[in-house]
Amino acid sequence: PAVATDGDRDVLLAAPRGYCAGVDRAVITVEKALDLYGAPVYVRKQIVHNKHVVHGLEERGAVFVEELGEVPAGATVVFSAHGVSPTVHAEATERGLKTIDATCPLVTKVHHEAKRFAKEDYQILLIGHEGHEEVEGTAGEAPDHITLVQGPADVDDLEFADGTKLSWLSQTTLSVDETMETVDRLRAKFPQLEDPPSDDICYATQNRQLAVKEIARTSDLVIVVGSANSSNSVRLVEVALEAGAGSAYRVDDVSEIEDAWLEGVESVGVTSGASVPDDLVEGVLTFLTERGYPTATAVHTAEESLIFALPPELRKDLRAAG
Ligand code: SF4
Repeated sequence: PAVATDGDRDVLLAAPRGYCAGVDRAVITVEKALDLYGAPVYVRKQIVHNKHVVHGLEERGAVFVEELGEVPAGATVVFSAHGVSPTVHAEATERGLKTIDATCPLVTKVHHEAKRFAKEDYQILLIGHEGHEEVEGTAGEAPDHITLVQGPADVDDLEFADGTKLSWLSQTTLSVDETMETVDRLRAKFPQLEDPPSDDICYATQNRQLAVKEIARTSDLVIVVGSANSSNSVRLVEVALEAGAGSAYRVDDVSEIEDAWLEGVESVGVTSGASVPDDLVEGVLTFLTERGYPTATAVHTAEESLIFALPPELRKDLRAAG
């Protein structure tokens, strides 16, 4: 393609984007576990939903498995940032596995809310995507009390006996606007619906959506870096389109960008999901510069400073190792 020097071209880079505190902690957990115990360290499910991160850890000796049955007796296994249901913890104990739980504390918070509502005999409407690991983990805390609601369209089919106490919870990585629409529909149908004590959609998801909205309003094209199974990354594409982006695509890395997307495009917005290392974004920015787009301008909509301590079981072993 011709390299243009059109002065009207610009690139806006969303900030914040990329790694959240829960992903950072989960990745460091696996790295430190490899340093401390040596390879192999087993990880149940992808530690975070990014194929580059998973591949990088595999190269260092992490072995990703789908279920605990694949982990040899006596081995060390890390639970991913998305959380696990109590049956998985029980199976690990039964098998005598050494576990390190890298579940994001903000997911654990939702587990606690599920347990509390269930104990108080609520039926819980869990807004989330069927089959997502986080939803499986949260639902596993109170299987008899949880009904999955995938979006506003699911509400019409729900029925509960009169007098049923109802509350709602959600996956941490949903679209804020769509979730509110679902909740509004739930409340219209079930006026007794009680809210959770605080937002379940986490700060990182909310901040990345706000940031992409800001750049999408003036972007002909928005490029979201993130893997296909990353819920929050996929949501960023949807939010960008709803906010007015001319087009929006998700790519795992620069190699997936198609030149045709840039045809007639003056303004490009770039962001990345919460599980995406920033070097993948750098690759996209370099590509855009080579195609005649200027250096990106960062658009700051929030500052983030949250850091989570490593899982206590790992910290204990690190201390013991001096
Ligand atoms: Fe935790 Fe939110 Fe990051 Fe998920 S996206 S790991 S809930 S901070």
